[in-house]
Formats: sequence, structure tokens, C-alpha cells
Amino acid sequence: MISVTKIEKCPCCSSENIVKNGFTKAKNQRVLCKNCSKSRVLHKKSNPNNQIKAIDIEAIRRVFLERLSLRGVARIFLISYYRVYKELDLYFLLLPKFRTQVVDNKEVNDVIEFDELCGFCQNKKNKQWLWAALSRRTRQIVAYVIGDRSEETFKRLIRKIPLNYLKCVSYSDYWKSYAILKAKGNHQQVGKESGKTNHIERYWATLRARISRYVRKSLSFSRSLRYHHLVTKLFIVDYNQNCSSTLF
Ligand SMILES: [Zn+2]
Repeated sequence: MISVTKIEKCPCCSSENIVKNGFTKAKNQRVLCKNCSKSRVLHKKSNPNNQIKAIDIEAIRRVFLERLSLRGVARIFLISYYRVYKELDLYFLLLPKFRTQVVDNKEVNDVIEFDELCGFCQNKKNKQWLWAALSRRTRQIVAYVIGDRSEETFKRLIRKIPLNYLKCVSYSDYWKSYAILKAKGNHQQVGKESGKTNHIERYWATLRARISRYVRKSLSFSRSLRYHHLVTKLFIVDYNQNCSSTLF
């Protein structure tokens, strides 16, 4: 009987100077090349669990809006979090435009409430303020922006508000950037105890309860700014949609 010994080579540099180096999660033997110090799997076992599962993106979206983190979603649905990213990315593409969800304002007696909320991206030093204008009549967010806490960001918000809403009476807290609205004539800066910004304060409470990256003192804040924007949009569009379905 003839036995053939196959000599394994490093896939990167073809060196034969390789040693075993533990196993991957999928129980594949990993080898380390002593020549180029790269660690590789030479022969992948076929694993039935590796086959792509059909997953319900709608279910993922729903649990995601119930304060679950991306990694939490991955653990529950038994998929990798790269897969969650990929699926959500596809979902974000299909998300309706924010503007199309906002109900047109025909009533002059509507009231707009302004406020800003602190969120983080990458680390706790990188604050990302979410500015929003909420309609008291429909409870919809009629415009929002994410940025720093400066007047420039607030101006960006104002430019996004539909004109019919901009004409309404509005309230905000005493933050200095809101002072530029004084020229509008029907804007008032009030304290929290006046109750005139209660609706938007309540909105922030819902947002913090539903999106894990906005939970105070939580570890799960956004790693990428792009995702921070997308997740915020996902929540706001979803909430606006629910508002408009209860209106009609
Ligand atoms: Zn090598």
C-alpha cells in the first residue's frame, strides 16, 4: 500500500513552515504561517448551519424598534450581525421618504414644539444632537436634523420645516439658539414647568424607550454616524406613519 503525504502550504506565501493554530467558531482548523505570520483556514468543512437562512426582515425591524441592539437582534435570530447590517441596509433603501409621511397642515391653530436631544456616536465625547419640530395637533415630527448644538444646526432645521407649519405658534426651551425665532413674532421661549413643550418631551421619552442607542448611560451607542442617522430616521418615519394612520 502506498500512502501519500500531502504537504500543506501557506495560501499567502506558499511557505511550508506552518503550525496548527486553534479552531475557528465553525470548528475549522486554523494554521499559522511562521514565515508571513498570517493565520488562515486551509480546508473549510461544509456546515449545514452555514447555509443562508431565510429571515423575516419585518420581524427584525419590529424587534429593533423595541430597544434591542443590533447585536441583540443577531443573537435572537441566530444570524451574524453583519447579516443584520446587510438586511437593515436593504430595508433602509425601501424606507419611504420622510417628507411623504408628514401630514399637510391646513389648520392655523396648530402649535409647533421645538427641542433638542443628546445622543452619542462612537464615544461619549462625540455628542450628536437630534433637533426636532413636533406638531401638537398630529403629534408628528414635521422636521428633524442631527448635528451639533449650534445655531447653524437649528437654522438647518428651520429650512426643513414645511412653510405652513413654520407660520404656526411655536414653543421651545431657553436654549440660546432658539432666540433667532423671536423675529417670527409668534414664538415663545418657556420653561419645562409651563407644560408647553410637554409633547416633545414625551416624544423623547418614547424614543429613548424604543431605540437602544438613545438610552441614557447605555453601552449600545452608535458606532457609525451613517447608522445613527438611519436608525433615527427609521424610528421617526415609523412613528409618523402610525400617527397618520390614527388621524384618518
Ligand atoms: Zn505565509
